[in-house]
Amino acid sequence: MSDIAALKQRVCAAVDRWAGELIETADWIHAHPELGHQEHEAARRLAEILAANGATVEMGIAGMDTAFKAVLAGSSPGPTVAVLAEYDALPQLGHGCGHNLIATSALGAGLALTDVLGDLAGSVWVLGTPAEESAAPNAGGKVHMIRAGTFDGVDASIMFHPAAETTMTDERSLAARGFEFFFHGKAAHAAGAPEEGINALDAVVSMYNAVSMLRQQVRSDVRIHGIILSGGAAANIIPDYAAIRYRTRSDDADYLEEIVQKVVACAEGAARATGCRLEWNEYLPPYENTVPNRVLMGLMKENLEALGVAVATTRKRTSRGSTDFGNVTRIMPGVEARIGITESWEVPAHSIEFQQAAGTDRARQAMLHAAKALAMTAIDLLARPGALAEAKATFADDMGRSQ
Ligand SMILES: [Zn+2]
Ligand SMILES: [Zn+2]
Repeated sequence: MSDIAALKQRVCAAVDRWAGELIETADWIHAHPELGHQEHEAARRLAEILAANGATVEMGIAGMDTAFKAVLAGSSPGPTVAVLAEYDALPQLGHGCGHNLIATSALGAGLALTDVLGDLAGSVWVLGTPAEESAAPNAGGKVHMIRAGTFDGVDASIMFHPAAETTMTDERSLAARGFEFFFHGKAAHAAGAPEEGINALDAVVSMYNAVSMLRQQVRSDVRIHGIILSGGAAANIIPDYAAIRYRTRSDDADYLEEIVQKVVACAEGAARATGCRLEWNEYLPPYENTVPNRVLMGLMKENLEALGVAVATTRKRTSRGSTDFGNVTRIMPGVEARIGITESWEVPAHSIEFQQAAGTDRARQAMLHAAKALAMTAIDLLARPGALAEAKATFADDMGRSQ
């Protein structure tokens, strides 16, 4: 145990040593937000620093230019722990989800673990996972990486996400899917010959209203929300084309499939009512709901508390989004530590206030705490007898129960 304590002290000291560069990088990414699959500069910066410190880095994996895998120097045969980085931003809101901090927490953990891996049996990878936010077309970098086999050989995945509260709960994220509906009508002079037109905007509005009514008839865990992508070109032309994008979410994938069928029926009804031709597609892979691993949660909580960070086991505000990390937690033990970066627990993510918070000193300190706790947890998994086996047993149990 004392060996483990000494290793943890070394990674914490290393994070402190790297603090200046980590903060500079977090602030730079915050000030230069890049959308999903376009995070070239953020990914390059992380990968370069890791490579300069001996990591073997592959950039542009799993068919994505901004995805990378960095195997840390000193990795040896044995269990493999992945520390996950995200770095994509939101349209108009920049780093309104604080992924600049996720990026540098993983970088910091990676740099710190490089110092101690020679004294451990096993490997640590930092995985650069692009496009977590569903705003980008074909988002879900982690899902693409799972499909490409990037996670093959990884025994556990750990990451951090900034939040309004520091909590460790087994609350699951929502399963989520995304669809785009395209209505094709017929253009005509809106005053001179409206009877000749087929109004695609009417189809979108009709669908929007039908979905709004559907919302009343579904379970309370369901979320259906969308934006109109296109609604015509000019007021004096009957729109021959209009499109709408929806994201649908629910506690579980089975019920979500039922909801999806109903949303599609709303689109079909709107097309039929207006005479439009309907095309639709699923614009990104499904995000599954997370299965937070209780053993990893326990380790992460213990490590954060050892750093003097108070960790609550309930949330004041139940705020459930979705994440492509959910898919990861369904193939291996995984945990996402949430650490508060805001002045108040009432600040929602994806807001201007949260975007501003992600650039404050409070956020920088949370990121450094996260880097340390991630590194300490990786040490637990590689060095603490039975910890990884226990996490895997819990995972098997959870999956057996949830299927
Ligand atoms: Zn987000
Ligand atoms: Zn996020």
